[in-house]
Amino acid sequence: MIKMDVGQNEIQNLNTGKILTQLFDIVRIVNPTSKCSLTSDQHKDSICYRFWKKPYPCSNCISQRAINDNKSFVKLETAAEKLFLVMVIPLRQENKNLALELLKEISPESIFGEFCGKSPQEISVLVNSTNNALITDELTKIFNKRYIHERLPYEISESISNNKPLSVIMADIDHFKTVNDTYGHVAGDFVLQKLGRELAKEINENQGWPARYGGEEFLICLRDTDRESAYNVAEKLRKVVERKEFSYQGDIIKLTSSFGCCTVQGQKISPDELINCADKKLYQAKNSGRNRVESSPWQ
Ligand code: GH3
Ligand code: MG
Ligand code: MG
Repeated sequence: MIKMDVGQNEIQNLNTGKILTQLFDIVRIVNPTSKCSLTSDQHKDSICYRFWKKPYPCSNCISQRAINDNKSFVKLETAAEKLFLVMVIPLRQENKNLALELLKEISPESIFGEFCGKSPQEISVLVNSTNNALITDELTKIFNKRYIHERLPYEISESISNNKPLSVIMADIDHFKTVNDTYGHVAGDFVLQKLGRELAKEINENQGWPARYGGEEFLICLRDTDRESAYNVAEKLRKVVERKEFSYQGDIIKLTSSFGCCTVQGQKISPDELINCADKKLYQAKNSGRNRVESSPWQ
């Protein structure tokens, strides 16, 4: 048995901050909603994702995940051919949800290279695909529900800071159960896959992103998009679905879908409130006969 020569009191008396800065290359406190790095010697007042040489926030943001799930997370991330181990712990300070980020470089020329013998580029591809897998829906290959909950807080925060409108569209296939009942669940899966591809094609990356909320429901987030423009996007998608012929093993499957849109500008609302607002409109579209779009400003 290993005999520990330090007790609980000694551990508590250690200067934790000093130890953390000795253990890790970067120790910083991040607000994952605004993406501000609040404290750090080297990166004072910076935007957290700039460290990763990215023009956009990390898709796989484990700091927002740490806050959402109230537990710590670990991931690998690359920056300029350097590989980092990232550990994140949720913090609550002055009524703010923050995350303590601990970054340790484990670049290929050190231990990682010894283990797998891959080039920095190969490791970067591997790390990115692992990170992307966590926020991608397996069936449709668009973003998943986890991404919605991790990304919407940032989108709302950005729209408030920039005083720009933000719209969310909830889409639901009409009578999808009948598709499964008539053609089988595999055909239903095929249709969902194709629909995911259509959404990814229609929504420009600079404008926003589509995600599978669950089952046959999709959420589309549109930055800098007012109520009228969001309505037009949803109407365009409605027509795309209505006109599309899903050809599956000799069958031609035709569908319609309903859409609910909600637009906010300047209001400090939660992601759940925004989703609920779009959801209410979706159910209005369903109750008004389906294959239609209903929209609303946030009230
Ligand atoms: P409504 O017009 O009211 O939306 O009718 P609906 O039949 O689309 O709605 P309902 O919620 O009753 O049924 C949704 C169906 O979607 C039931 C479920 O089996 C099916 N579904 C959910 N997820 C999947 C999936 O991943 N694959 C397949 N094939 N079907 C799915
Ligand atoms: Mg549904
Ligand atoms: Mg449905």
